[in-house]
Amino acid sequence: MRKPSQFDAIVVGAGPSGNAAAYTLAKAGLKVLQIERGEYPGSKNVQGAILYANALEQIIPDFREDAPLERHIIEQRLWVLDDTSFVGTHVRSSDYDKPPYNRYTIIRAQFDKWFSAKVREAGALLICETTVQQLIMDGDQVVGVQCDREAGDVYADVVILADGVNSTLARKAGFHGEIQAGNVALAVKEILFMPEETIRQRFNIGEESGAVIEMVGRITDGMMGTGFLYTNKESLTIGVGCMLGDFKANPSRTSPYVLLEQMKRHPAIAPLIEGGEMKEYCAHLIPEGGFHAIPQVYGNGWMIVGDSGGFVNAAHREGSNLAMTTGRLAAETVIAAKAAGQGYRAERLKAYKTALDDSFVMKDLHKYRDMPGVLHRNPQFFTTYPDLVAQAARTMITVDGVDKKTKEREIFASFRKTRRWSGLMGDAYKLWRAFR
Ligand SMILES: Cc1cc2nc3c(=O)[nH]c(=O)nc-3n(C[C@H](O)[C@H](O)[C@H](O)COP(=O)(O)OP(=O)(O)OC[C@H]3O[C@@H](n4cnc5c(N)ncnc54)[C@H](O)[C@@H]3O)c2cc1C
Repeated sequence: MRKPSQFDAIVVGAGPSGNAAAYTLAKAGLKVLQIERGEYPGSKNVQGAILYANALEQIIPDFREDAPLERHIIEQRLWVLDDTSFVGTHVRSSDYDKPPYNRYTIIRAQFDKWFSAKVREAGALLICETTVQQLIMDGDQVVGVQCDREAGDVYADVVILADGVNSTLARKAGFHGEIQAGNVALAVKEILFMPEETIRQRFNIGEESGAVIEMVGRITDGMMGTGFLYTNKESLTIGVGCMLGDFKANPSRTSPYVLLEQMKRHPAIAPLIEGGEMKEYCAHLIPEGGFHAIPQVYGNGWMIVGDSGGFVNAAHREGSNLAMTTGRLAAETVIAAKAAGQGYRAERLKAYKTALDDSFVMKDLHKYRDMPGVLHRNPQFFTTYPDLVAQAARTMITVDGVDKKTKEREIFASFRKTRRWSGLMGDAYKLWRAFR
């Protein structure tokens, strides 16, 4: 016989998506249990990390008052690197230096702890160091979770899976298939500590403001991926991630660790991180399959939020933003379902997918739906073009007695020789398709 529900909802995981869901539910007066396998929220979580204010603002409007924020971002750089140089764009504005700030760097371990304290203040019960082993089914309805340790079996009206990329629970329950190496990136990152004053001088930033650099090109050794360097208060976060399938297929068998070490030695990067003392090193998967890889995200008594559902927009690296938004939307669906009193069958929880489709989450994923595939099939965007662009920039800027017309001819010839007209036209079309 089915056991009575002890909770309105169980949320598995205390990352941004789980915390957003648990907070929204508890704030609305629902009885919520949140289960986290880590020693504390944030202990298992990895992120660059840029926090986008918008999603959090909609959940905790006054979060700026006490959230552990490192620097608000006033400058965004995008670098295309060959082996010795970079060509880049910098977007910097004093408008970004005026509150309310739009983006911040954060340290995830501290941020997740803070968010979790808010969840508990709102009334949710959190248990840590407990792993949910599997979902409990009553026929085709999810009715609870089976945990390790003394928590045992716990029953609820609805279970929200916020257990991150590679969700074993959803796989075991058959909600989605095995994780595909072509749909996830493996990223490694380090936090390098150095005096605050050094960071301010090197990045030309103020006491509270910060700069971030996103990078593509030779640093990923021909694989589809990106690098990043973010300024925190007294540390820098540096990392690089490439598609897991590319690591497996890479003929030079470069490991993620070696890739990061090579990146740190790049002549454009090394001076920025020089003297930094490494205090944290971690590796994590990032869902990168995009729109086409989003599985079914709701069913009878269950919903999937955040990385567990593959909600990462590879074009903008806003995983936590999407995670918090999906967590909030799932929670709002449960709140409405409870108010309606008509149960938690898929027909009712479908409202979650409708809300996702109406939000920027699915609209942006749809807009960039072809991007992962196009870039993955065309490694020249990570090798040939960074080389050509950097060489072209050097040719134009170097003053050596050669007239500019001749230089332009040389540059066009180098592009034509390397990719031919047909290749160039095809690549332009592919880029348009990826970012249209
Ligand atoms: C290197 C790197 C850099 C990134 N940079 C950025 C960035 O700058 N900005 C950004 O917005 N996003 C970034 N992301 C993406 C972002 O980190 C994720 O999108 C976000 O953490 C997803 O949140 P989540 O709550 O869905 O999952 P997670 O943060 O992974 O949380 C899942 C939680 O569930 C717990 N859990 C898992 N299984 C179980 C279980 N069976 N039982 C109990 N608990 C369980 C885990 O311990 C974990 O705490 C980055 C990711 C990486 C790897």
